Amino acid sequence: MDFDTPLFDFSLAEAWIRAIAAAVEKEQARLTELDSAIGDGDHGSNLQRGFTAALTALDDLQPAGPGAVLTKTGTTLISKVGGASGPLYGKAFRAVGAALPEPADPATVAEALSAGLDAIRTLGKARPGDKTIVDAWTPAVAAFRHAAATGAALPEAAAAAAEAADQGARDTVPLQARKGRASYLGERSIGHQDPGATSTALLFRTLADVTAG
Ligand code: ADP
Ligand code: MG
Repeated sequence: MDFDTPLFDFSLAEAWIRAIAAAVEKEQARLTELDSAIGDGDHGSNLQRGFTAALTALDDLQPAGPGAVLTKTGTTLISKVGGASGPLYGKAFRAVGAALPEPADPATVAEALSAGLDAIRTLGKARPGDKTIVDAWTPAVAAFRHAAATGAALPEAAAAAAEAADQGARDTVPLQARKGRASYLGERSIGHQDPGATSTALLFRTLADVTAG
């Protein structure tokens, strides 16, 4: 392993969750607006409540592996967020955390993020193209994994994942929702960007920001 590249460690995991909380706060109105168009308008407030609680939970956490931060965050999201996104993101963070007991290199982080996607798909049963968070998370994992496999350091792999997640979120606009609340709208869900795919893009963008230092 090349130890010249920074590892994904406890303080980076903590910085990531703190950055997500700040980004969700900043983007809350946009997420709410997107969810008002094809859902019930609570995606921004759901995530804000969840990540605010996650910050409080982190204050009590003893330094350990990076996984402890993410597992704690996942558990908090599951218990504090009532909407579909709470259990989905909660299970995802728990799965990513379980795969990162020690400071990790980019290839290991790629596999952990992939485990997060598996958890989302196992719980939500959504496939790519169903207009959900899966549509941003799937290309993000693929891009992260490809970058790691070709020797990229964490900041580059995370930047590639963020780009792919952004594109994945934008690509949900012409899709018809087949899972979640938006699916009740049928064809009327077409022409709007999915709120969950948008918040997933936010998660990967913040990961790129904190790894870039
Ligand atoms: P709710 O739909 O219960 O109000 P939120 O508004 O917080 O919950 O989250 C909505 C987002 O959750 C959607 O935009 C979609 O991306 C995501 N979502 C909903 N159902 C699923 C599912 N089965 N699999 C993956 N993501 C889903
Ligand atoms: Mg909603």
